[in-house]
Amino acid sequence: MKPSLARFSLALFIALEIALIVAMLTVYWLSTPVVVPQLGKGEQPLIAQQIENMAQDVRQTARLIARHPQTVACLKTGAEALCRTQAANIYALNEGAQIYLVPAQSVESQAAYPAILPEAYTHLVQPGETLPTATSNFGLTVSEPVRDGSQLLGHVVLTQAAPHLQELFDGLPLPGGYLELRQYSMPGVYSVVQRRGDENLKTSASATVLPLNGTPWKLAVWQAQPSMPLLSYFTVWLVLSLLLATMVWLVQSRLHVWVSEDLNAIVNLVTDIRRQHLRGIYPVNLMEFEKPVSMLIKLAQLTVGKQKQVETEASLDHLSQVYNRRSFEARQSELFKTLQQGLMHSLLIIDIDNFKFVNDTYGHDAGDQLIVQFGLALKTHLRGSDFVARLGGDEFCVIFPNTPLPRAIELADRLRASLPAVLELQPGVLHRLNWSGGLSEYSRKDSAESMALSRADNALLEAKRNGRNTTRQKAA
Ligand code: GH3
Ligand code: MG
Repeated sequence: MKPSLARFSLALFIALEIALIVAMLTVYWLSTPVVVPQLGKGEQPLIAQQIENMAQDVRQTARLIARHPQTVACLKTGAEALCRTQAANIYALNEGAQIYLVPAQSVESQAAYPAILPEAYTHLVQPGETLPTATSNFGLTVSEPVRDGSQLLGHVVLTQAAPHLQELFDGLPLPGGYLELRQYSMPGVYSVVQRRGDENLKTSASATVLPLNGTPWKLAVWQAQPSMPLLSYFTVWLVLSLLLATMVWLVQSRLHVWVSEDLNAIVNLVTDIRRQHLRGIYPVNLMEFEKPVSMLIKLAQLTVGKQKQVETEASLDHLSQVYNRRSFEARQSELFKTLQQGLMHSLLIIDIDNFKFVNDTYGHDAGDQLIVQFGLALKTHLRGSDFVARLGGDEFCVIFPNTPLPRAIELADRLRASLPAVLELQPGVLHRLNWSGGLSEYSRKDSAESMALSRADNALLEAKRNGRNTTRQKAA
């Protein structure tokens, strides 16, 4: 099977299509899953709001306790009985909470409450017991100052456990995501209190960090975006394939036009060589064709030039350089055919007078010179449309196309008057030019083309008989 532009385009399309499919499969595998730091709708406000509400409640409780006269009295007097009574009341009202009344003069546990308490404190309620850490699981610890007027007596430290938040956190719908609850001790420094989901996602993208007002916590969320569905890949593939096919088709069509036009230019060139007539230019579209076509044109110019030269040489008389007898006959034949259309043509046969004398007196070369100069003189003094031929020896013939006999007589007389009277055949050899002429007209009644020439010949004989250097005519 031979290659063709269409087959080549199909192969190109298949190759590009394979490359496209491979590229799309690669993109598909590499892009699953795509991780983006975004929360799903509804999840962010729910958990954040719950935590913020809890913080507000805990702070409110701590504030109420801090302003309670019994609390103020406890911290002001340090009376243990009073403090125990108040503590019992507070515990009764706040289930699940751990509450500490911390006097301002305390020097202990700065390390345990650095973010909450600006001052040192002593553990009043249960001396010696381990203080709760600030990062207990969903227990929020807040502190409120206890004042007597403008005097700072100490702080209420309240740690509220929130098991329902733990449940909420654990039940968060987080498909393919990851969430951290962070506790910040200072900006940029945090510990992770809770974590949920696929921790591997942390390496794929940065998180969205949401502050939770009223708490030292922030929520950091990573969520995997579901990868593009297969159907979308199919649609993209379809669109790209259509684009690709259109592109290949357009390129192939354009190429086809260019190649066809260029081949046409070559066909024209070859036809013109056969017709022996070249045009000025043979335009080509493709660079690849430029060089071979320009070489072909050069070859064609040489061939046509040579052919024309051969043809010209074959049609001319080698000595006088006017047409030869063969060309005369061809031209006569052409014109004879047009007589039927009503056209009229005449002819004049010419014979140089006393030519032999030149040959005999000055030599054959001088005779040749007379033929050459006479031929040139005829061409010079006749009209461009007249046809001059040498029939042989010192005999010439002029055809006057589209010229009836009376007009031909005028032209012959004019020719006789205009031709040079004397020719210099060789240096110092002057010859007085005399010639006799016989005129006739082609006639559609003639049964043969040569009959007009015979009549002209007879007229020429008559001119010779009548003393030469004159013209006679014979009508059809
Ligand atoms: P007329 O006045 O009756 O025409 O006599 P003429 O002397 O011209 O003689 P004619 O026309 O009968 O003969 C022509 C001569 O021209 C005959 C031949 O020897 C000579 N001749 C023919 N061809 C050539 C040629 O090519 N070169 C030369 N130099 N002479 C030629
Ligand atoms: Mg003669």
